[in-house]
Amino acid sequence: MDRMDCLVPLHDVPAAVDSLPSWQAILAGAVRNPTELVRALGLPDSVASAAVAAAGDFPLLVPHPYLQRIARGNPRDPLLLQVLPQAAELLPAAGYTADPLGETAATHLPGLLCKYEGRALLIAAGACAVHCRFCFRRHFPLGLAPSTPAQWERAISQIAADASLGEVILSGGDPLILDDQQLAQLSRRLAEIPHLTRLRIHTRLPIVIPQRVTEGLIAGLRGARLAAIVVVHVNHPREIDAPVAAALGRLVDAGVPLLSQAVLLRGVNDDADTLAELYRRLVDLRVLPYYLHQLDRVAGAAHFEVPPERGSALIGELRRRLPGYAVPRYVRETPGGVAKEALA
Ligand SMILES: *Cc1c(COP(=O)(O)O)cnc(C)c1O
Ligand code: SF4
Repeated sequence: MDRMDCLVPLHDVPAAVDSLPSWQAILAGAVRNPTELVRALGLPDSVASAAVAAAGDFPLLVPHPYLQRIARGNPRDPLLLQVLPQAAELLPAAGYTADPLGETAATHLPGLLCKYEGRALLIAAGACAVHCRFCFRRHFPLGLAPSTPAQWERAISQIAADASLGEVILSGGDPLILDDQQLAQLSRRLAEIPHLTRLRIHTRLPIVIPQRVTEGLIAGLRGARLAAIVVVHVNHPREIDAPVAAALGRLVDAGVPLLSQAVLLRGVNDDADTLAELYRRLVDLRVLPYYLHQLDRVAGAAHFEVPPERGSALIGELRRRLPGYAVPRYVRETPGGVAKEALA
């Protein structure tokens, strides 16, 4: 497994990031050129040519705070594998499709998915702060995310018209790509709907660019009528460096419940040591595990698949090693399902 040298005692983390460049400036300066990424990491040019070929389908995007956590000179680095386009993405694989969850069919309006009882999923943004090569939305028409105030209003009136809904899940893309004002405006509009009680945000941004966890974001989350719950997407213990730990701490200190989700990925986190370290580290930071997702069979991601039997065995090992609350639910998404399918 990867060693624990990335771990930093809680007390050493910086308390404020105000002196650093803003998260938007960091995002604007992200690496988008495969050759630049490969050179920055001291990898051979052959890696770059494969990356250039595979990036045509789904472009490379890696912001510097994430790049800094990738080991130099190791083409198998578990953080690198998540973001580096690879030749394997271009190979056709039986059963892997552009829309494995049938989300296009479940989308009634631009950006609104109503698949599960009581909860509506709102695609709040079409963009992300990083491009994860295994993403099940890599072919999703994110142009369908609401982009004009009128489209927002249509999605919001649909939610307002359905009194069975108690929770809105902001997803994407990454909803925290919206700035603090846009988020506050959206959350104010949703808070006006009397039957809603909760607002859940699924995001990878605090992991990728921890500077995103601004005072403004925290004020918006704690000031709203709706109970805010944040679910961070984190796959490997080395994704959690000192600034990330501090950002998660700011959210928890503000009283926002933090949950985590990960995708089980071959070559990245498909061993018991790595997963145990990830979940130990997260609970130490007061982030509870929620989901460990079986890979969705999206075209281009077949090389990341871990057989479900292996995933179940890993969960068994985690149950032996960790307290019960530190073990995630291992689940699979199903196209027509009324809930996620439990795999362990
Ligand atoms: C996972 C998911 C949800 C939320 O499911 P929970 O079980 O409440 O976490 C809602 N909508 C969609 C489309 C989902 O994939
Ligand atoms: S951040 Fe989430 S939505 Fe965006 S590419 Fe990664 S997995 Fe997909």
